Formats: sequence, structure tokens, C-alpha cells
Amino acid sequence: MTPQTIAFVYAHPDDETFLSAALIRELADAGHKPVLLLATKGDAGKKNGAFGHLSNEELAAVREREMDKAAAILGLAATRYLGYPDGQSNKADEAEFIQRIVDFLQRHQPSVVVTFPEDGGNFHPDHMMISKMATAAVLSGRCPSVRKLYYVFSTSLADRGLTASVSIDTESRWPMKAEALRAHESQILAIQRYFGDLEAFPENRRYESFVLAWERGVLWPPARPERSVLDGLDKLDG
Ligand SMILES: [Zn+2]
Repeated sequence: MTPQTIAFVYAHPDDETFLSAALIRELADAGHKPVLLLATKGDAGKKNGAFGHLSNEELAAVREREMDKAAAILGLAATRYLGYPDGQSNKADEAEFIQRIVDFLQRHQPSVVVTFPEDGGNFHPDHMMISKMATAAVLSGRCPSVRKLYYVFSTSLADRGLTASVSIDTESRWPMKAEALRAHESQILAIQRYFGDLEAFPENRRYESFVLAWERGVLWPPARPERSVLDGLDKLDG
């Protein structure tokens, strides 16, 4: 298969590692080009211990450096920020927000976009906003390179009777994922709350799961299990 670009569109530095470290690394190892767009720099994130005295601007700079480190571990080919205020991206002008995502997608020409589901996974307003904006960008018809849109699988999708299309078993890549999580040092307490102490493989966080939400103009195409988010991309349109 010719190398593909896959765009991950999330809200905060660390969302990409929490939800899709193994998928990103797997794509990079197979010669594809994963790229990341983040709505915010995470400047209102909880400030743990040594980071407690930082202003929002200082925390943004710290989190950008942490993200650079994680990006190298994950094999991301590019990381860009829209720079909306953390926790308040849902107050931004929607038309402009969508256009800025369109601009990113036009620049990188991805065939696949991965973002949050409508509920943001955890009802975080920034997660819900980027889901809505990224979906609108893909569905706008202004990003013709995009063939498939995936949502991170969440319990509210399961409640709607949906099942994951692609599930990645993270066990073999856990040392890499743990290293990328550790790179987001200022967020380590939240990370440990979710994954445990990172020394032991977290059985309850074993899978990274994604559901195909849109494909070539069709919203919620009939469910089918897939081996990879790249399945079917060699098929011609029409
Ligand atoms: Zn987040």
C-alpha cells in the first residue's frame, strides 16, 4: 500500500497518547505518516507538584516541550496547535474553528481522520468541541483527501449498540506507550489515576478502540470489523 497520512485531531497534549499511542506507532512503523492537530496547548491543565507555581503561559510552554518528546516516541511526523484557551475552546467562533481544521487537513492531505466521539469520551467540553468541529470539517466537502473518519470508541457509543471497528491490543507496545505517557510529566497524576503506576501493564486499559463514523460520504456506514484503519483505502472511489 502506498504510504498514507493519518490525521489525529484532539484537544490537549496527552490525549493522543492516552487514546491512540499504539495505533500512531503502528502506523509510523509501517511507513505511514501520522500527524497531530491539537485545539489547545493544555494551558489550564492541573498543575502537579513542581508545576504548581506556573502561569497558564508557562504551563503551555512546558506542555509543548512534553508533547515534542511524546511525538518523537510515537513517531508523529507533525504536531500543530490551534491555540484555543484550554477549557474554553467551545466558546470559539465555529466557522473559523472549522476552517482552521480544513486548512490543516488540506495541507497534510490525510486519507483518514481520527478524533473524539460526540461525548468526548468523558464529556470534557474541549473534547466534545473538537469532535464536533473535526466532524464538520470532514463533512464540509472541503477536505476531499479524507476517505474515513474514526471516533475513539466510548461507552456512550456502546450504549447506542455500536461496536468498535478496530481494536489495537497495546500489550506488545506498552513499554513505548508508558514512555510516551511519562513524557507528559506535568500530567503524571492524572495519567497514573487512569493507567496505574505505568510499571505494570494495565489490563483494564488494554485496547485502543475506534469506530468508523463516516466513510466516503456515508455517515455511520454499516458496522464491520476491520484489521486496520487503512482497510479499503486501496479501493477506488465511485
Ligand atoms: Zn484532553
